[in-house]
Amino acid sequence: MPEAAEAVAIERARATAAAAELVVVKAGTNSLTDDSSHLDTDRIDKLVDDVQDLRETGKAVIVVSSGAVGAGIGRMQVPADDLQTQQALSTIGQSRLMRAYTESFDRYDTTVAQILISEDDLRVASRFANLRQTVEQLVAWGVVPIINENDALATAELRIGDNDMIAAGLSIGVEADLLVTLTDVDGVYTDNPREEPTAERIVAVTTQYDEIEQLVTASSTEKFGGMLTKIRGAREAAEAGIPAIITACAAPDVLARVVASEPVGTIFVPTTLLV
Ligand code: GLU
Repeated sequence: MPEAAEAVAIERARATAAAAELVVVKAGTNSLTDDSSHLDTDRIDKLVDDVQDLRETGKAVIVVSSGAVGAGIGRMQVPADDLQTQQALSTIGQSRLMRAYTESFDRYDTTVAQILISEDDLRVASRFANLRQTVEQLVAWGVVPIINENDALATAELRIGDNDMIAAGLSIGVEADLLVTLTDVDGVYTDNPREEPTAERIVAVTTQYDEIEQLVTASSTEKFGGMLTKIRGAREAAEAGIPAIITACAAPDVLARVVASEPVGTIFVPTTLLV
């Protein structure tokens, strides 16, 4: 794609993101817990403040939140090496996670709702229809749905990154206008930014998906491996016409800056804009 046309498409993607009416915000465990895996009230309040910034501009927000297993580990202080243990821990952590969100949103007198889903719920039309209706009713009431995978019942192996795909599938299914994936790095880099000082942030992704997936796979470490599913989720959304942004949860006013069309994180330009 010629550079000038690409620059126009990127600008249009930012403008589309800024004009979004329904936004899906996905937050990962590392954005919600501290080093000892306890839920971190300051981090949760910061995320909720950012979500509230969007709501105050008239946008509706659906949160996809991880953190159940993490919060369960923090509470029980047991190793979570196998699936069964992780599933049991998720049930402990999920209620604590919802309590934390409820208390944090209470500061704004905003009501939240919990929905636990599996990837199948997005695929089976009859189940998805019910999910969509429920979400739409909650949004119409001005309630913030907080969605996580139903880890205790998941039959496939619980994997880090499931929620990245759930957030993408949900964004497409409810016809959201924007997907923001919040994580502990401020976008997709050409190399692992924690280890390679020469790593550069990729400001926008237009068509170079395969190249980027390869770059990230090559630079992944155990701790950094989570970026690949974020990229896959963002790509899925962008291919369905929804702009997707990967950025840092800790960045100041991160969501307000997205809807001010600022160049935040890495934006995946919807393929519909690449004509
Ligand atoms: N559902 C898991 C949890 O809440 C996290 C899965 C993911 O990080 O994608 O702990």
